[in-house]
Amino acid sequence: EGDKVIRNLELILKARGYDKEVQVVKTGCFGFCEQGPIIKIHPDNVFYVKVKPQDAKEIIDEHIIKGRKVERLLYEEPNMQKKIEEHENMPFYQKQLRVALRNCGLVNPEDIHEYIAFDGYAALGKVLTKMTPDEVIEEIQQSGLRGRGGGGFPTGLKWKFTRQSKADQKYIICNADEGDPGAFMDRSILEGDPHSVLESMAIAGYAIGADYGYIYIRAEYPLAIERLNVAIKQAREAGLLGKDLFGTGFNFDIDIKYGAGAFVCGEETALIHSLEGKRGEPTYKPPYPAESGYKGMPTSVNNVETFANIPPIILKGAKWFSSIGSEKSKGTKVFALAGKVNNVGLVEVPMGITLREIIYDIGGGIQHGKKFKAVQTGGPSGGVITEKDLDTPIDYESLMGIGSMMGSGGMIVMDEDNCMVNIAKFYLEFTMEESCGRCTPCRVGTKRMYEILQKITDGEGSMDDLQNLKELSHMIKGSSLCGLGQTAPNPVLSTMHFFWDEYVAHVNDKH
Ligand code: SF4
Repeated sequence: EGDKVIRNLELILKARGYDKEVQVVKTGCFGFCEQGPIIKIHPDNVFYVKVKPQDAKEIIDEHIIKGRKVERLLYEEPNMQKKIEEHENMPFYQKQLRVALRNCGLVNPEDIHEYIAFDGYAALGKVLTKMTPDEVIEEIQQSGLRGRGGGGFPTGLKWKFTRQSKADQKYIICNADEGDPGAFMDRSILEGDPHSVLESMAIAGYAIGADYGYIYIRAEYPLAIERLNVAIKQAREAGLLGKDLFGTGFNFDIDIKYGAGAFVCGEETALIHSLEGKRGEPTYKPPYPAESGYKGMPTSVNNVETFANIPPIILKGAKWFSSIGSEKSKGTKVFALAGKVNNVGLVEVPMGITLREIIYDIGGGIQHGKKFKAVQTGGPSGGVITEKDLDTPIDYESLMGIGSMMGSGGMIVMDEDNCMVNIAKFYLEFTMEESCGRCTPCRVGTKRMYEILQKITDGEGSMDDLQNLKELSHMIKGSSLCGLGQTAPNPVLSTMHFFWDEYVAHVNDKH
């Protein structure tokens, strides 16, 4: 529908003779999916929501030509009398801080000039002309940036290890194999601001000593792929990718490789195998990719959101970045807020904010006034968090401390109507289907777990089944080869811990 809105705006502007004066820019996501399609009028800073193609005429005739706001398209906060004009004043945005998403909803992702107008490629220019590779790594280390794909490993340290490995050829890989159910953080960044990732990959290449990078992206992201291809072409034409960047003799280029949508390929060793044309199966670490990665060469694999944070750190400094967030988790995190919350969408918040603030202040609370039951973070590898822990500040360690994990940013909210055994079964079915089959505990164990869960939800389970489910979970966690199997039982264990009575009710009441 957004495309139809744009087309109508352009047609009407042309018909009114305003097409030279007023520009219609197609941007990436504003994050407020619940209220889309969204139009922001510059420089008036007016934000129109739920715009339909037929609204284009009124927006142009009233707002653009006569300077009168179209009241009915302004956002109105539920339970508030007042309409809100600027998105900065909406509760959905007030507690957000957009660092990784800074250009999404602002620039035309298919126009490199717009990216450059908002300081694009200035960070690359700065590192190439004013900083040594060691200084770049030091800056990233000082910033405290940690991997946003879920692992939370310090980015600067990963670059340092890769830099220290001696080899003639090294590689940078951007992990865009986003696979958590309900997660779309990386897709939005690539669709809304592809140049920020290209620029950061070149910075990373300079830091570790690599002249080539690959973006490993799932083939199910056609728009992100299309925009990346446009961005790479434009960057090459502008001399910002390729040979002798900024006249410094530094060469760096990027290619895109498509993944077939296997969840396990988000794990860096499996991703590298897939990139090499082999089966996407993980291997034991060490050796880590920093020593022996793509084609046996030192390789740094970083996630899309991690890369999106790099240019602001270089331009504004490590001190600025490390002033945001909590003691051990610096900066912001993007979450895909979904489920039974009023304002579903993409949110970027400073680390240290509480889950309650995300769900109630940003998310607008639970739909239809129902009661909150739990929130799942960390996707199929995470666990549920209940009411008693909603005031826990969000960071890597504190989420682990309450039995879940940060993960890549999926956040699914559940209300009183959700059956937690069914939720556990949903996640388990996902990991069972995504198991690569390399090791027995994960390949066979997740199947057996699923069968038991099916039996329980069919009303045919027994207390012995519950006990077996628990034992099997611990066995799979302790003996699987990679993170997928090691974390697959987490949703089951966590729902058993917090909602044991629901499991027992299924067994006793036979429903
Ligand atoms: Fe494959 Fe699962 Fe074993 Fe990982 S744990 S290697 S996904 S079978």
